[in-house]
Amino acid sequence: MITTQQMIPNTEKDIYERFHPALTLPEGEDPSNSIIFLVDADRLAVYRDKDSVRFPRISDFPDQSLNLDMMDYMGTADGILCFCLSFDEAVPIPEELEFESLRALYDSVDEMMGMVASRAVHLAGWSRRSKYCGVCGSPTQKDSAELAKRCSSCGNVIYPRISPAIIIAVIKEDKLLLAHNKNFKQKWYSTLAGFIEPGETIEACARREVLEEVGVAIQNIRYFGSQPWPFPDSLMIGLIADYESGEVTPDGVEIDDAAFFGTDELPDVPGKYSVAGKLINWFVETRERTITNAVDPECR
Ligand SMILES: [Zn+2]
Repeated sequence: MITTQQMIPNTEKDIYERFHPALTLPEGEDPSNSIIFLVDADRLAVYRDKDSVRFPRISDFPDQSLNLDMMDYMGTADGILCFCLSFDEAVPIPEELEFESLRALYDSVDEMMGMVASRAVHLAGWSRRSKYCGVCGSPTQKDSAELAKRCSSCGNVIYPRISPAIIIAVIKEDKLLLAHNKNFKQKWYSTLAGFIEPGETIEACARREVLEEVGVAIQNIRYFGSQPWPFPDSLMIGLIADYESGEVTPDGVEIDDAAFFGTDELPDVPGKYSVAGKLINWFVETRERTITNAVDPECR
């Protein structure tokens, strides 16, 4: 029986000791050395040298080509000012600067910078989509007191949209439920996931999604961890549950194959930067610990 006493390490504390979000540039700060998160959809401009990447600084751009009005201040990362800028409004791109997908960058930057880059992608997309009021069509303006935009005509307030979704590891004895989604570009198998619907609790969504997609009822749902997933605006809520009843039957609409897998028979799975990857990694490590302890209790 697998317990959930060992969850993913809580790295949020470390991240927020290094990243301090803010809405406005503190008075008197010199922005000339700031990091620029230049965003084009889900891609970011970076300098890459083999496996290492760095985000550009204002000083990498031609003189006077960036001004503070076109960018959104994000706060400081390791004490360095950070701005995000949507590529629509951009300016001459320095040579050797290239756009890479945020997913690919997760493997090349540390977790804190990955989180700030993720925030930049989310904010730049929101900023692009909220230039005009959805109620009356008038231009909007950034609010100085909170992360929001206000309509200059009717006063409508627009906050960044965040769409919560569950992603769940269903455990049956010593096996993990994994499924292949028809929309996956890769051949890999992953944990089941789905968006929370209006009026639904996290737990109800988890039960509905698993039942709809593979015909299995679950019980004993518990929280694992969460991750912003800005493609374009999700918040993934990782859960663990135990199998209750039912035969695994893919719905044929979203899921074309699914089964319970032991650690020695896992198919290709998503990378460790995603919640799915962390859930699968947790399952494997917990299982290995259980086996080790069973073999030699003195090793504990
Ligand atoms: Zn309006």
